[in-house]
Amino acid sequence: MTDLAIVGLGSMGSAAAWTATKRGLSVVGFEQFELGHERGASHDTSRILRHSYHTPHYVGLTFAAYDAWAELEADSGISLVTQTGGIDFFPPDAAIDMSTYTSSMDVHGITYDVLDVDQVRERWPVFTPPEGTVSLYQARSSIVPAALGTATMQRLARERGAELLDRTKVEAIIPGTDSVTIVTSAGTYTAERVIVTADAWTADLIRPLGWDIPLTVTEEQITYVSLHDPAAYARIPLWIWMDDPSFYGFPCYGEPTMKAAEDCGGPEVTGDNRSGVLDPQMLARLEGFLRTNFSGIGDVLRSKRCLYTLTADRDFVLSTVPGHERVTVGLGAAHGFKFAPAFGDMLVDVALGGDIDPVFTLDRPGITDPNYEANWLV
Ligand SMILES: Cc1cc2nc3c(=O)[nH]c(=O)nc-3n(C[C@H](O)[C@H](O)[C@H](O)COP(=O)(O)OP(=O)(O)OC[C@H]3O[C@@H](n4cnc5c(N)ncnc54)[C@H](O)[C@@H]3O)c2cc1C
Repeated sequence: MTDLAIVGLGSMGSAAAWTATKRGLSVVGFEQFELGHERGASHDTSRILRHSYHTPHYVGLTFAAYDAWAELEADSGISLVTQTGGIDFFPPDAAIDMSTYTSSMDVHGITYDVLDVDQVRERWPVFTPPEGTVSLYQARSSIVPAALGTATMQRLARERGAELLDRTKVEAIIPGTDSVTIVTSAGTYTAERVIVTADAWTADLIRPLGWDIPLTVTEEQITYVSLHDPAAYARIPLWIWMDDPSFYGFPCYGEPTMKAAEDCGGPEVTGDNRSGVLDPQMLARLEGFLRTNFSGIGDVLRSKRCLYTLTADRDFVLSTVPGHERVTVGLGAAHGFKFAPAFGDMLVDVALGGDIDPVFTLDRPGITDPNYEANWLV
């Protein structure tokens, strides 16, 4: 019998397949669309990898994230991590509290620079934040490739014997006493255990097991703009605007453009009714922000849509389904890509009976309390 079945082969499922096969486990993975499709959350060029986080718990996890990316680079022979440095901007009266970041990094001895507006402008003249903005610069922030990183984990898993089936939709997961039956659009399979990494589609797959996971799915939008002086933008760190609305962006990465987006700015959708088309209001908001806080912004070149799947507390899920120990769920809560290679390993641990981190269990107020007030601004 197959040791492990994996439902959903985005970055999380592909990471679980990669790490499980490295441990010698037999794996069958199912993806409803073609591998590398652009209807979920793991496509396009770049994602942010950083130490700067709002709790000591997440900062602690970022060490495993960096180590796992290094392991993936060693295993694949491909350079995947581009260190650029990262700057978090806290404008006057910012909605996000800078001290949650500084105190969390202090706990783990992570060094950073606190910069005022003049120091920022001196180092990176294209940044024009308002007077009174305080910024945190952390040198180790990096860019990791979304589509390439995911495809690399799929390739390595297949090279170690994983059977990855795309255009194969899982229709039902039926836990038994010593195995799990997985009913798909291409037949029925049995495995000892199953890991569900279906992001926006997770709740519908798990509900028949008697466990409701309240998730909010939003359709986000990333945009690439041309630049009057690409060389100046090649030298900037990746950046995050820590206010409401919150924005983030990247230096030039493989092309003389800047990619930027709003965090949690998209309309609520489902995995199946997302529009996939440009949202002019979101674009106008982003453009207005960029032209105010950056110099030398050129034309809008292209935009893409991408799904966020948010838990109310914006914490991950890395947990078996209570009462169904053979079914494990993994959710990155719309900030999981940086952790993907490490997340895959943690998911396999949990699936094999390892301890569940209480912060990421399904059995927590952010999941079970219907009155829990959602907070995504972290
Ligand atoms: C615009 C944007 C920017 C982001 N930026 C960052 C960042 O800078 N840093 C960071 O760390 N994170 C970032 N994230 C979050 C990160 O990308 C996600 O947390 C991560 O990609 C989620 O991966 P996943 O594998 O869980 O989801 P997905 O890639 O969506 O994979 C789930 C897969 O399951 C499949 N599936 C669903 N149901 C079924 C079924 N019934 N049968 C078979 N297959 C099924 C889907 O088709 C899909 O391929 C960003 C996300 C977005 C959208």
